Amino acid sequence: MYNIVFIGPPGGGKGTQADMVCKFLNIPHISTGDIFRAMIKEGKSELADMIRGYMSRGELVPDEAVVDVLFDRISKDDCQNGYLLDGFPRSLNQAKVLDAKLASAPLTHVILIDVDENQLIKRLTGRRTAVNSGKIYNIHFNPPKVEGKCDVSGEDLIIRDDDKIETVTNRLKVYKDQTVAAVNYYKEKGVLTVIKGEKNIDEVFADIKEVLKS
Ligand code: AMP
Repeated sequence: MYNIVFIGPPGGGKGTQADMVCKFLNIPHISTGDIFRAMIKEGKSELADMIRGYMSRGELVPDEAVVDVLFDRISKDDCQNGYLLDGFPRSLNQAKVLDAKLASAPLTHVILIDVDENQLIKRLTGRRTAVNSGKIYNIHFNPPKVEGKCDVSGEDLIIRDDDKIETVTNRLKVYKDQTVAAVNYYKEKGVLTVIKGEKNIDEVFADIKEVLKS
């Protein structure tokens, strides 16, 4: 049984690694950021509008909204044999609320994917997204063949609101101000494993698989 949390700074590669781990273990990948983006895409609702505001400023969505969405998702049948949380918890309070909720089936692995701040800024501000094909590029590390166009669909690439420089700076600040407290909470409990995220994708994945063996 794997109840995994991936925690770490924005742009550290949590999402990419989470996808790979979830395919490998055949468990659902639960990203609160993805759930929110889907809610916003789905259409207008007061909640979606409220969430869009926080996301575009790089701020945390208030706990009441996040916790409801997350607990609703992990109560679904496909989570009975484990899951991976990517992007939750992001504050000390969220970590504590999660522990209380999971009292009878606690987390099995908490993995911090850590990356140097300069590298994070390049990764985040260089990111370009193709909305329709879902492909993600990076102008520094993984550029499209034709500048500004998706290799698969040819559509124009966009900069997601939360990848804009002001928002990125704010997301990093929020990480330091709020998420590091959750990291320290897990560290003090002795359940945290730190993985260096600067290596290439396959090397990081290999390191994570090693951690999951124990
Ligand atoms: P992500 O895709 O994980 O980087 O999340 C994008 C944005 O969604 C964040 O910058 C927050 O605005 C919001 N968000 C995602 N997860 C959480 C969370 N656990 N708590 C609060 N806000 C969140």
